[in-house]
Amino acid sequence: MSAPPRLTLALPKGRVMEQSLEVLRAAGLRLDTGGGARALRYDAGDATIIEMRNADVPTYVELGVADAGVVGKDVLLESGSQLVEPVDLGFAACRLSLIRPRGATGTVQRVASKYPRLTGDYLRRVGSGAEVVKLSGNVELACVSGLADAVVDVVQTGATLVANDLEEVDVLLRSSARFVVNRAALKLKHETLRPLIEALRGLPGSF
Ligand code: AMP
Repeated sequence: MSAPPRLTLALPKGRVMEQSLEVLRAAGLRLDTGGGARALRYDAGDATIIEMRNADVPTYVELGVADAGVVGKDVLLESGSQLVEPVDLGFAACRLSLIRPRGATGTVQRVASKYPRLTGDYLRRVGSGAEVVKLSGNVELACVSGLADAVVDVVQTGATLVANDLEEVDVLLRSSARFVVNRAALKLKHETLRPLIEALRGLPGSF
């Protein structure tokens, strides 16, 4: 009998990496990632791991370079990728919110965000004609410096808002880490993927 097909997994660098490895191990994958400096692509026992910026995970999985991956729902929606999303892993819970300087009341004319697609969709939904400006980091600074009169950004505890005298005025969506799968891989590697998906779904905190 041949061995079940091996997976290539796209995982985001940073805060989500360790939690992703933890849940994948808890679901039964043997992943030896060593420690210290790591290559961008390495053989980790039961899977090959490729590490990247979270915004690139949907592209790698959609184009089939990775069979599956872990990415935030916010990033997934912003990418517009049509991936299979079989498990909500529950961690990295946050909300994507409209944020303004505390007490601001005037009409919003310019909104800065790392999420221009979701921001544009939201502004159309609420009937606002505000302009969207795309930034790549430190979005709260746009409000603080006057570049924009509002921003759309991720809020977790709200500590960043308090520290910068900002307030959350609306919630666009709630996000958490999702296990995403390439459609072709789901068929071609079902022997490996089906039991992994079942095990991930069964973990405390997942659904
Ligand atoms: P907080 O101060 O806890 O509300 O965290 C907000 C800051 O942390 C923002 O600048 C976010 O960009 C970042 N952040 C918090 N949670 C996440 C997450 N799950 N994914 C990405 N960035 C996050």
